Amino acid sequence: MIIDDFMQYASHYDLLIFDINGVLDNNHDAKVKALSEAFPKLSDLQISKINVGMERAYEKSKGSSTASHIAAALADNNITINQDKAEELANTYFDLNRIKPEIIKFLNKLSETKKVCLYTSLSKAKVDYITSKHQLSPNILVFAREEQVESKPSISNLEEILRITNTPIDRTVLFGDNVAVDIMPAHLLGIKAVLVSNYVDAVIKL
Ligand SMILES: [Mg+2]
Repeated sequence: MIIDDFMQYASHYDLLIFDINGVLDNNHDAKVKALSEAFPKLSDLQISKINVGMERAYEKSKGSSTASHIAAALADNNITINQDKAEELANTYFDLNRIKPEIIKFLNKLSETKKVCLYTSLSKAKVDYITSKHQLSPNILVFAREEQVESKPSISNLEEILRITNTPIDRTVLFGDNVAVDIMPAHLLGIKAVLVSNYVDAVIKL
């Protein structure tokens, strides 16, 4: 999804809630490329499995990048890697998790006229890292793990965001990349939900 697509929705709502991973860190292709270059002999499916493992490793790691978690994610896929290479790969890969400056500028601009919330299971420290390529406006509500009522998927968390921002359900739209974790709770509460995916070329809605 690109900025123009977000803007089409923005005009119709007061509050825009963005899941971070998979929606705003729109670097899926670059991550796959980095992994393919690191492991040129592996098939696309193996690379895809490692990509998922890397994302889990990132969520587990306390710091901005932790090579031991990378090594563990690779070991799950029967790949052993030495510490130096794991560190190098972690740095390259996790740098791609950082949100592009133009996206942060877009969010900051949006927050001048709309309420904007970043909703993520990540810790506040991790959000700081992810948004470190450009200064995030203090107008933007960062609803990170520490602020949450419970872990995702959660209706209560969404109710809390509506309460904090004093926004009715029908003035709210949520952008997420996971049907079970993001879209379903929003749908159950009656919030308009938009699925953002890097993995498909077209969507048919029945
Ligand atoms: Mg996500």
